[in-house]
Amino acid sequence: MLTVATPHPTVIPETGSLITHLRCPECGKTYVATAVQTVCNNGTCNSSLFAEYKLDGTISKEMLTGRPANMWRYRELMPVIDTGNIVTLGEGFTPILPLQNLQHIAGDINVFIKDEAGNPTGSFKARGIGAAVSKAKELGIDTIVTPTAGNAGGALAAYAAKAGIKAIVYMPKLTPKLFKDECRLYGATLVEIDGSISDCGKLANEEALQNGWFQVSTLKEPYRLEGKKTMGYEIAEQFNWQLPDVVLYPTGGGTGLLGIWKAFDEMERMGWIDSHRPRMVAVQSDSCNGIVKAFHREHSVSEFTDGGFTIANGLRVPKPYADKLILKVLRESQGNALSVSDADMEAALKEIARNEGMLIAPEGAALWHAFKQLKASNWLHDGETVLLLNTGSGYKYLENLS
Ligand SMILES: *Cc1c(COP(=O)(O)O)cnc(C)c1O
Ligand SMILES: [Zn+2]
Repeated sequence: MLTVATPHPTVIPETGSLITHLRCPECGKTYVATAVQTVCNNGTCNSSLFAEYKLDGTISKEMLTGRPANMWRYRELMPVIDTGNIVTLGEGFTPILPLQNLQHIAGDINVFIKDEAGNPTGSFKARGIGAAVSKAKELGIDTIVTPTAGNAGGALAAYAAKAGIKAIVYMPKLTPKLFKDECRLYGATLVEIDGSISDCGKLANEEALQNGWFQVSTLKEPYRLEGKKTMGYEIAEQFNWQLPDVVLYPTGGGTGLLGIWKAFDEMERMGWIDSHRPRMVAVQSDSCNGIVKAFHREHSVSEFTDGGFTIANGLRVPKPYADKLILKVLRESQGNALSVSDADMEAALKEIARNEGMLIAPEGAALWHAFKQLKASNWLHDGETVLLLNTGSGYKYLENLS
């Protein structure tokens, strides 16, 4: 049982949110967006649900001019109906920077990094959690729980504090101390678990069901995806509506990868971009590379894979809930998947820090190493534009860096 107030009696068309309903991408079953939803309940489907919008040219990309530089500049394409329910700490519209001083390594490939480090709580989790907490507020939810590898917990703690909602966070014991302190400082209840995020997920799920709490575990509710999709809108807008040829994404649960892909699809349907799509590359940690293995074995789902600790705690996701959808995007985009060791991530992190003046998260640093590997194997071509998505700030990981 969930504690839910009755949905807003009168729909206030202030934001002009164009959301119409939710839809299961696997079986097509539809759901209303004005009540609490989790995953598809059609038989044994259990797929993540996607928000659908009226994409008929009601809004044009020209309307974005002069709007605030945060993710709510795309508010019509976001799920919150009453603007009064938006809980924002200024997330989004992060810079895209050329890797100028490392360009000699990239040769004739143009390499850029979208740097999510400057988001509230130091990672792109602020986008997804910001959207989910806003929608939870709209739906009258009073307690939110999440399992987390670190950054989602901090983001939930902060946004819940701002929203006046209670937050309960389940985090692996091996996560650096800062991630735990952050949750407590924002007033969340922290539960430390001896295990991986999968173990956290099991307990969070049990306790949420018992107590009627709302769970925002990756892709088990529809709105974190909507927050993360704003990265896709920004990529298009910041590259002047010409998408890059390749996007490298550090894949844990895969929300960002799916969200970016969803944004591209929505923009094409609105006529904002043409049909050119980047090749999407999932980069994982050697210790948790189930997607990489499934991709190369041409499997449609991944196997549970957990090699234990990695400095990239955001990538320690043994079995992404939406593995099937992730693998589909990689194939559809003619993309790729590869994994990186902790030692290589750390070396890449230092190379970026010393040459570019950016202290990025190990998850993001993995992309620079992956980039060099893809270049060496001639998978990338001269003249192409490649975007690396740095998902977080390296400052949160100093405990594990020397
Ligand atoms: C959560 C996280 C990831 C993985 O994100 P997904 O969209 O769930 O794949 C990558 N990097 C960092 C820093 C994270 O916190
Ligand atoms: Zn379904």
